[in-house]
Amino acid sequence: MPNAAGPNMVLTKNEMPVQDPKIRSGNFFEVALGYTESQAADEAKRCLGCKNKPCVSDCPVNIDIPAFIGEIAAGDFEKAYEIITRYNALPAICGRVCPQETQCEGSCIRGRRGEPVAIGRLERFAADYHNAQEKPDDRKITAAEKHGGNRVAVVGSGPAGLACAGNLARKGYGVTIFEALHVEGGVLSYGIPEFRLPKAIVQKEIQGLKNRGVEIAVNTVIGKTLTIDELFDTYGYKAVFIGSGAGLPKFMNIPGENLNGVYSANEFLTRINLMKAYTVDSSTPIHRGKKVAVVGGGNVAMDAARCARRLGAEVVVIYRRTEKELPARLEEVEHAKEEGIVFQFLTNPVSITGNEKGWVSKIICQKMVLSEPDESGRARPVPLEGSEKETEADCVIMSIGTSPNPLIKSTTAGLDMQKWGGIIADEKTGQTSRRGIFAGGDAVTGAATVILAMGAGKKAAEAIDAYITGK
Ligand SMILES: Cc1cc2nc3c(=O)[nH]c(=O)nc-3n(C[C@H](O)[C@H](O)[C@H](O)COP(=O)(O)OP(=O)(O)OC[C@H]3O[C@@H](n4cnc5c(N)ncnc54)[C@H](O)[C@@H]3O)c2cc1C
Repeated sequence: MPNAAGPNMVLTKNEMPVQDPKIRSGNFFEVALGYTESQAADEAKRCLGCKNKPCVSDCPVNIDIPAFIGEIAAGDFEKAYEIITRYNALPAICGRVCPQETQCEGSCIRGRRGEPVAIGRLERFAADYHNAQEKPDDRKITAAEKHGGNRVAVVGSGPAGLACAGNLARKGYGVTIFEALHVEGGVLSYGIPEFRLPKAIVQKEIQGLKNRGVEIAVNTVIGKTLTIDELFDTYGYKAVFIGSGAGLPKFMNIPGENLNGVYSANEFLTRINLMKAYTVDSSTPIHRGKKVAVVGGGNVAMDAARCARRLGAEVVVIYRRTEKELPARLEEVEHAKEEGIVFQFLTNPVSITGNEKGWVSKIICQKMVLSEPDESGRARPVPLEGSEKETEADCVIMSIGTSPNPLIKSTTAGLDMQKWGGIIADEKTGQTSRRGIFAGGDAVTGAATVILAMGAGKKAAEAIDAYITGK
């Protein structure tokens, strides 16, 4: 929707107010504070309302971005929220954590000369505005009102499972999500820290799905508590969606990785986020290192580094390529630097040494040089022989990737898997090699993004509806 008063042609985005780095590096409160109404309206007026909407095609859930931004420009923030939630059930989350710079904002015409429209910040604004109104959810649908006894089971309550369940509930199906942990949300709850994604927001968006009739059974491990076959045969579910993520950490297999004080990023973050190890009265054990080395360069590494910093450590991030290749979002890297985190680029650990008590004392790294691109298309790091150097560290956090847990594969016959452990599923429908079983998100793609997982969950919901109704 073009702006009647003409667009705001300022070349830069309205800045996001943030907590002062010196203060925030000592607390877990949210870093980015959100736009005010006038900042949001001013930013929204930067949208040109393009006819061909490149931002929409680059959004994995195809939100009608110009339409919702047009409503913000016009001051109807509730309408903007209503438009977004036609496509995305978790806007307050996506507005905070989506890599907009490579998706919707990456193709924004305003980005050709100047900065793109701050689409993510506006999405967050609309969702926060709505949530602050505390209106009862009047979109409540009684579960299974339309589809009688046809119930669908969803394994995992991360973004893939939530999106699939939410879309099926909207269509009138009864849906039960089975979640292994005691709290719903997947990585949104156990991985991404409070200072980037407050847990009250995650819970609020999940409550919205529950209001629409989605049931969530926590502490239920599919493959142990119940099998997928039991979901069909004993409990009568007509279809199952697997959104079990990729939560199994990888290690480097270097000497010293079993020393006390070496964590996988997932364990470290789970202790902090899910088990609240950072709170004063928490009984969760956590090793508060004074000198922490984080190995890796993705969002997970940034989160681990910034959490360790907030627990009082000096933190160094060790990454084997250069700053240019860092896979983490630029904003997270900048925030980490502002908070005093140091980066060692072109460096890779070869061993970790310990003290007489079995605790980490040093990490030994080699210098790397970049060579021809590897199969991922990125320059391949090659070690420089004889370049080993020691760095003092009393805690090492490995953040070099994750893969899917093999439990579901080992307890479900006929489910074809990739060699690396991902479930093989059709990209458009999520259909797996077994009739009635669909899958999506990190369990299929390996570690990816929230919005891609949600997109997969949404597509699978359409396919499950078609499968059950025979259309
Ligand atoms: C620390 C961290 C930071 C990240 N930061 C970002 C970011 O800023 N932006 C972004 O877009 N992406 C980010 N990601 C990636 C993103 O969070 C994931 O791609 C996304 O959560 C995948 O969603 P999913 O639903 O497939 O899996 P998950 O979120 O992993 O959820 C899977 C759920 O399934 C449950 N489960 C697993 N096995 C079973 C079982 N057998 N039975 C029952 N339940 C089971 C798990 O407990 C979990 O709750 C980050 C990831 C991490 C780890």
